[in-house]
Amino acid sequence: MAIQWFPGHMTRAKRQIQDKLKLIDIAIELLDARVPLSSRNPMVDDILQGKPRLIVLNKSDLADPRATEQWMNYFTHEGHTCVAVDSQTGTRVQEIPVKAKEILHEKIARQIQKGMNPRAVRGLIVGIPNVGKSTLINRLAGRNIAATGDKPGVTKGQQWIKVGTEMELLDTPGILWPKFEDQLVGYRLAMTGAIREQILNVDDIAFFAVRELATRYWPSLKERYELDKAPADPEDSEEIVRIMEDIGRRRGCLMGGGRVDLEKASGIILRDLRAGKLGRITLEAPYDDMPVRQV
Ligand code: GDP
Repeated sequence: MAIQWFPGHMTRAKRQIQDKLKLIDIAIELLDARVPLSSRNPMVDDILQGKPRLIVLNKSDLADPRATEQWMNYFTHEGHTCVAVDSQTGTRVQEIPVKAKEILHEKIARQIQKGMNPRAVRGLIVGIPNVGKSTLINRLAGRNIAATGDKPGVTKGQQWIKVGTEMELLDTPGILWPKFEDQLVGYRLAMTGAIREQILNVDDIAFFAVRELATRYWPSLKERYELDKAPADPEDSEEIVRIMEDIGRRRGCLMGGGRVDLEKASGIILRDLRAGKLGRITLEAPYDDMPVRQV
């Protein structure tokens, strides 16, 4: 499931996208609304070579709406056009062709001026594994086209998929690698399920998740697991382990001698988090002061 990205894979992925750039008018850069920075490829500007671009914050149904608004402002401020969608249900995905046309309006106006009949806008969806590229393609196409899952390096015959009458998409998305340089990024991606447990230990991911949640979303954590005492200092590892044990006890994750099975508790916490059962959560804010804090 998880891709191991080696320098050779990165070079190939980059080349594959750059080959497709010649065919398209606009790149649709898909990010995870819960971790817009961590889910962003570090070389995306370089890879897209100045192609017009629409930024799409996907999985916004799982993200904190206040934080999503901040991210939209942030990307707009950076000079991008940005839309937040939920590809699974299709919420706002119809804005994608509309915004794409807006971005390309000068090019389209020139074609009309020259007496040409403007053809459909051609787009390519790019993003890291699991960000929802295939789900979005299928949703925009209105039928099942792209197989969900990761197949880097697999090329099949490319086809244009019609999105209404005014847009066409390449059926194979561009797969980008995530950032790796920073451990925090790895844990944030793991919390969202973008990196599987084979790479990072489930207890460690859950520890990290509980620490983040205790810091920013304590009310959600408290309510879900009926916890009573907020940690005095979420930076204190022992307090976080105590919360994990409390959650384990509440969920009956016990081993012999009344000890809490932390691995089992960790699995429950991560499943709940990824399924949105701990509420709508965003793990990073565009500005350092993390104004998404709830408490
Ligand atoms: P890809 O690897 O980028 O093609 O990602 P997929 O399309 O295979 O999606 C990865 C997982 O995310 C799948 O389980 C999808 O059902 C889920 N997913 C995709 N988009 C959304 C969304 O907007 N909201 C939610 N809740 N889940 C989504």
